[in-house]
Amino acid sequence: LEKPFLEALPVLFILMKQGYEAYFVGGSVRDHIMGREIGDIDIATSARPEQVQALFEKVIPIGIDHGTVVVNYEGTSYEVTTYRVDGEYNDFRHPDEVKYVATIEEDLSRRDFTMNAIAMSYKGELVDPYGGKESIINRSIETVRDAAERFQEDPLRMMRALRFTSQLGFTISSSTFQAVQDYAYLLDKIAVERIAIEFEKFLMGDWVQSSFEHLITSNLPQFMPVFSTHHDLMAKSTELSWEPLNGLEEAFAIFVLSSHELSVTSFSEQWKCSKKLKKESEVLVKAYNLLRTEPLKWVVYQLGEERLISFKRILSILGDQEDQVETLRQTLLGLPIYSKSGLSISGNDIKNWFPDQKPGPWIKEHMDKVERAVVIGHLKNEKEAIEMWVKQWNQQEGS
Ligand code: ATP
Ligand code: MG
Repeated sequence: LEKPFLEALPVLFILMKQGYEAYFVGGSVRDHIMGREIGDIDIATSARPEQVQALFEKVIPIGIDHGTVVVNYEGTSYEVTTYRVDGEYNDFRHPDEVKYVATIEEDLSRRDFTMNAIAMSYKGELVDPYGGKESIINRSIETVRDAAERFQEDPLRMMRALRFTSQLGFTISSSTFQAVQDYAYLLDKIAVERIAIEFEKFLMGDWVQSSFEHLITSNLPQFMPVFSTHHDLMAKSTELSWEPLNGLEEAFAIFVLSSHELSVTSFSEQWKCSKKLKKESEVLVKAYNLLRTEPLKWVVYQLGEERLISFKRILSILGDQEDQVETLRQTLLGLPIYSKSGLSISGNDIKNWFPDQKPGPWIKEHMDKVERAVVIGHLKNEKEAIEMWVKQWNQQEGS
């Protein structure tokens, strides 16, 4: 077993010592079988949530109504979920009730895809009643039991299927894909925020390019915010050269820039995303549009180092301004300053140079001018040079 599992073993043993069963489950077991890097480790146990809570010092009862508590053991968090099956799903959010069950096999039966319905014991032995390992070997995504039923129970699973194609490079089996196409319309029952989480993972996957083709034929875009009313948008996107994104903000910028009619606001409002994400997206779109009118240095300066990586990716996905991509980093490295605080003067200096003028917004205006002039190389970042420049400019303005 790999290190993350070894580190989690004591959690299994503590449960087992009390006579409970405990297994590793979910994505970590799948990724282990695939030889992929392992993310969060989830544990399934026959112990009830209160019993788990009693056994560990640091426990967060985060989903206790659904049988899940988070155990923090030696600095790592594990979701520990009691064997359960779901009751009826009447509101498409959560099952109305959860029913605890006695065996790991029953617990595995409620899971979405066969590749995610494998349990692994402390010895590394698999419990795999649905042929999950075979699905993994065949790189196939198929639901546990009847796909139509499983998607009607929880339509989010259809988005999950698509995001797994992008994350893992697997293909959705034909019967499962048929059910996605048939029940895609149920996606409008699902909270936008939950769709957004899966769509973001989709966009971040290594196989995002080929997965867009599947997404389009899945019918799901017709029931996704913005795309539902702009049918061409996603279809046109197959002409782009997608690569794994860093997040939704990059996608919104790309769709806005390739559509010419949509704004970031329409995306951020309909996808109900955070103000921060909206702002990030807007900065990227604005920078792109500034490329045509402003010196490259000024555009790069406003983006800053971290966003520049996003920006380069966007240029490369959109496939235009390709020649710019190379020079962007060079330009960044050559900048004389990286923020206003890098200037060799302050607002105070400006105030002192004009003792007769009352302090006011003009000081900031002067600072902004100086900042831009220094960044684009029109003005040396030296106090005396700046003083001369500002005084000259002030005189011109005044006359
Ligand atoms: P990742 O590696 O991205 O975390 P994951 O498979 O672990 O992928 P999670 O969302 O963390 O996905 O869910 C953990 C497990 O819970 C899944 O592997 C699956 O067994 C089960 N599961 C999650 N969501 C659903 C769902 N909507 N319906 C049925 N089972 C689900
Ligand atoms: Mg997981």
